[in-house]
Amino acid sequence: MKRREVIKNLSILPAAGVIAGSVIPFGCVNSENAAPKRDFFEELGVTKKINAGGTMTYLSGSLMRPETVAAINATCHDFANMYELQDKAGAKIAEMLKCEAAMVTSGAAGALVLGTAACITGTNKELIEQLPLPSGPQREVIIQKKHRYVFDQSVRNTGVKLVEVENAEEMEKAINSNTVMALFFNGAISWFGGTDSISHEEFVAIAKRHNIPTFIDAAADVPPVENLFRFQKIGFDLVTFSGGKMICGPQSAGLLFGRKDLIEAAKLNNSPNECPIGRPMKVNKEEIFGMYAALKSYIERDHEKELQEWLDRINHITATLETISTVKCETIMNPGPANAFPTMKVSWDQKKVKIKGEDVTKALDSGTPSIVAGGRGNSLNLGVVLLRPDQVNIVARRVKEILEQAV
Ligand SMILES: *Cc1c(COP(=O)(O)O)cnc(C)c1O
Repeated sequence: MKRREVIKNLSILPAAGVIAGSVIPFGCVNSENAAPKRDFFEELGVTKKINAGGTMTYLSGSLMRPETVAAINATCHDFANMYELQDKAGAKIAEMLKCEAAMVTSGAAGALVLGTAACITGTNKELIEQLPLPSGPQREVIIQKKHRYVFDQSVRNTGVKLVEVENAEEMEKAINSNTVMALFFNGAISWFGGTDSISHEEFVAIAKRHNIPTFIDAAADVPPVENLFRFQKIGFDLVTFSGGKMICGPQSAGLLFGRKDLIEAAKLNNSPNECPIGRPMKVNKEEIFGMYAALKSYIERDHEKELQEWLDRINHITATLETISTVKCETIMNPGPANAFPTMKVSWDQKKVKIKGEDVTKALDSGTPSIVAGGRGNSLNLGVVLLRPDQVNIVARRVKEILEQAV
């Protein structure tokens, strides 16, 4: 379904009577483990959170799917040679992603370190041991000024200097013999607004003319699922996605894929080797199997059905909340490129419902069960994609309760 059609269909969806997700466990859910016998949360006194926000690392990313947990459980009873596992999992992942080579990393941040390290060292053992202070001049990585972001720290970890450029001409001029890579932050538009001053295609073309590898960070950029295939087709040499965002794999895993020689070099910079820069970014055997299983499940999933499920959830919450006078619910289709899924905005007339968005958020967080959402002014943002099916109604009822108390 095209996005336009989806939005059009919003108006014809049943507004009431849909108990969202009560049948199929859709969303990032491990319904089998939803109620374990031994409650480790209670044992440690840790509060369980319902995530009506987004895939935030401080909230443990996303919930793994049953397939992923099954892969972890099924593989934890035997040893494996980690070199062989990384190679064979990587080969399968590369096949799925229609690219030359792939590997499982410790999240997208780990991939940023390893991919940059690979561009600096290639297979040179001495350089690998020397990072982050390789002999010779300081290496440089080109980045658009508008693309500077918190995660470029992971790139700088390798000792490189970031060289900021504002347009194609500046990029051409900035490339010199110390340039090892050009980094593109795909989510820049989502994060900062505006437009890229150099398009994906132009960025790749300039770098290719100078034989400089390009690396794109698309960590949070599924859905749409097509993005998993898009950047290697454009010609980026390296691509990363987080495992623990909407792919719903292990939160501590991620994907690095692209050119074969660079992936080989990235592996040399990684655990299980003892001394390289990636040694502290170890990914265990179970996470590698889990990441593979999660990606397979994500690619094979019925994405239209999943989107419909999310919209049904929004409809259910809308039907519950719009019974309160002046409360309005809006569906927001985030156009992406990052976090391109629907969320909802709940707003109300402060004169009738006398509570601020921030205070609704506080009440949700401190209530039982504890719910995380974002509120500001006279509105509240609710994310639905990370809710377990059984939590949709809990969220709807709690928000209703809090708003009604303020009438
Ligand atoms: C989340 C994120 C990262 C880090 O990913 P992890 O998998 O948590 O290491 C890097 N870049 C961007 C743009 C992100 O959104």
